[in-house]
Amino acid sequence: MKNSKPFPVSVRVNYSCSKCPAYCCTYEEIPVKARDIARLARHFGITPEQAEARFTRLDENGAARVLRHRKDSVFKSACTFLDQEARRCTVYEARPAICGDFPGGSRCGYYDFLKFERHHQDNPEFIALT
Ligand code: SF4
Ligand code: SF4
Repeated sequence: MKNSKPFPVSVRVNYSCSKCPAYCCTYEEIPVKARDIARLARHFGITPEQAEARFTRLDENGAARVLRHRKDSVFKSACTFLDQEARRCTVYEARPAICGDFPGGSRCGYYDFLKFERHHQDNPEFIALT
């Protein structure tokens, strides 16, 4: 029988998160929606209200909820859910939608920068500390 579903199309990406110190998890304001907070609440077995208070804060304009940060071992600060040793998300399955969508294409600007600098400085560990 003919499969009515389209063939899965593999998208080739030009970045490797496993070689990056999770720069995108250090963006100061990572917005979360109500459904992201509900997913995090289910993950931790708490109420959405508790999850909102514990894991988010208001943005600079007081208009939207963003993920809380804490002091980071590599950059100035990072999302509270980042494993600072492994540089991995500790809530991967329950992470906000925006985290799964980033960088939204086949390239990541920070990874392009890393690749360029690691090559030109002949230093595979280069991360551009801030
Ligand atoms: S998306 Fe880019 S900045 Fe984020 S972890 Fe991957 S390579 Fe690093
Ligand atoms: S929830 Fe996970 S993927 Fe999203 S910013 Fe925080 S550590 Fe990074």
